Amino acid sequence: MDNQIAAANLRALYDEYAQRLDALERDLRSGHSADSAEQAQERENDDVMRSLKLEAEAGLRDVEGALQRLREGHYGQCQRCGVDIAEARLQVLPATPWCSACADQA
Ligand SMILES: [Zn+2]
Repeated sequence: MDNQIAAANLRALYDEYAQRLDALERDLRSGHSADSAEQAQERENDDVMRSLKLEAEAGLRDVEGALQRLREGHYGQCQRCGVDIAEARLQVLPATPWCSACADQA
């Protein structure tokens, strides 16, 4: 894949995760109601938001890893077996560290 296209894809993905993380952090910081039934519901929502936040953080780390591989000149190589990752897979998952065969084993 063309490095400039890959970099643009990765930056777009990075922004998406960063915005999601921002919104989740804002929601998690926002105050809770005094009503105890509502509080129980809010705690459940917080749990969901916290797991979404972990997902977004993991996504950001993946993108950072992919950007680093791009800088080092081995973007698009599977980090497990070393083969070139299929172009179609990189288009859908620009930050993936693995080829589809290795991802299936994970
Ligand atoms: Zn592989």
